[in-house]
Amino acid sequence: MTPSRPTGRRILTGGALAMLLLLSGCAEFEAPPAPNSAPTTFAPPLPARATEIEAGAPASATAQPDCGDPTASLRPDPDPALRVGPTIDAIRARGRLVVGLDTGSNLFSFRDPQTGTIQGFDVDIAREIARDLLGDPNLIEYRTLGSADREEALMNHTVDIVAKTMTITCARRQHIDFSTVYYKAAQRVLAIADGGTGTPSIDGIGDLADRRVCVVNGTTSMQHIQQYQPAAALLTVPNWADCMVALQQRQVDAISSDDSILAGLAVQDPYTRVVGDPISAEPYGIGIAQNQTDLVRFVNATLDRIRTDGTWNALYDRWLTVLGPAPGPPAPRYLD
Ligand code: GLU
Repeated sequence: MTPSRPTGRRILTGGALAMLLLLSGCAEFEAPPAPNSAPTTFAPPLPARATEIEAGAPASATAQPDCGDPTASLRPDPDPALRVGPTIDAIRARGRLVVGLDTGSNLFSFRDPQTGTIQGFDVDIAREIARDLLGDPNLIEYRTLGSADREEALMNHTVDIVAKTMTITCARRQHIDFSTVYYKAAQRVLAIADGGTGTPSIDGIGDLADRRVCVVNGTTSMQHIQQYQPAAALLTVPNWADCMVALQQRQVDAISSDDSILAGLAVQDPYTRVVGDPISAEPYGIGIAQNQTDLVRFVNATLDRIRTDGTWNALYDRWLTVLGPAPGPPAPRYLD
């Protein structure tokens, strides 16, 4: 019988081996060294610029100053022809709007995995501003910012506006201005669905005592977790995508931030879920440098337009339905 090819190859291999042993005069193989019985595990590295903060450490944030309602902003001029001023002239002369945002914040500002273009709810809000200001939503230059860099970028005028899930607060208003509110988020917790490997599940901020929680530096999320759950140890990192990796590597037990940001992380990992009651209100505004009232009023005119012409609802339906049915655009509050 003719042997099939594989068997023939085995016979040949066996024959070659026997010949080799004969030639080398060696009757036996030396036994390979026994594997080390203690399994070796390597701790995954922490994200770059990660900092560990022990439970009970003094909160880094200073007390919130009282500025009344921080979400009240400047009223847009009803006559579009009068929406002018030096900041607007300078942006028009340059021919593009410089927008500070994050490029790894799923749903709000992130790269399309196939085309590489930056997109999301915040991106589309910025595009609407560029549409009204420059006649073309594409006339934007993006500058990537970490959460902790947002105020400084405006104060240094390295960006015209910040469109990055930025909560309007009295503390921030000491250094920068804001548009009216364009989205209302609330801080919650993201945890592993059943607590992960053998650990009790986390169902809200109350379960975070003696646990490790990831937050991004320079955020209201970090301030609130220190304020409402001081018994949690913190890992602080530069952006929310870093927190997701830390959770997946079980370097932390949970992440706490705005429900909008957490929802964008949760859709990327079916083992995670957003839990617990909201612990704070996070009204988002477009950040603008101080003393640029023409730009504040102009941006507020665009936000008014998209609230009433259906654009806001269309953008919600495009990006945010994972957060539930469209709540409708937040009503603006004005100072004047
Ligand atoms: N809304 C929070 C803040 O403005 C978190 C947003 C973020 O880190 O992008 O601090």
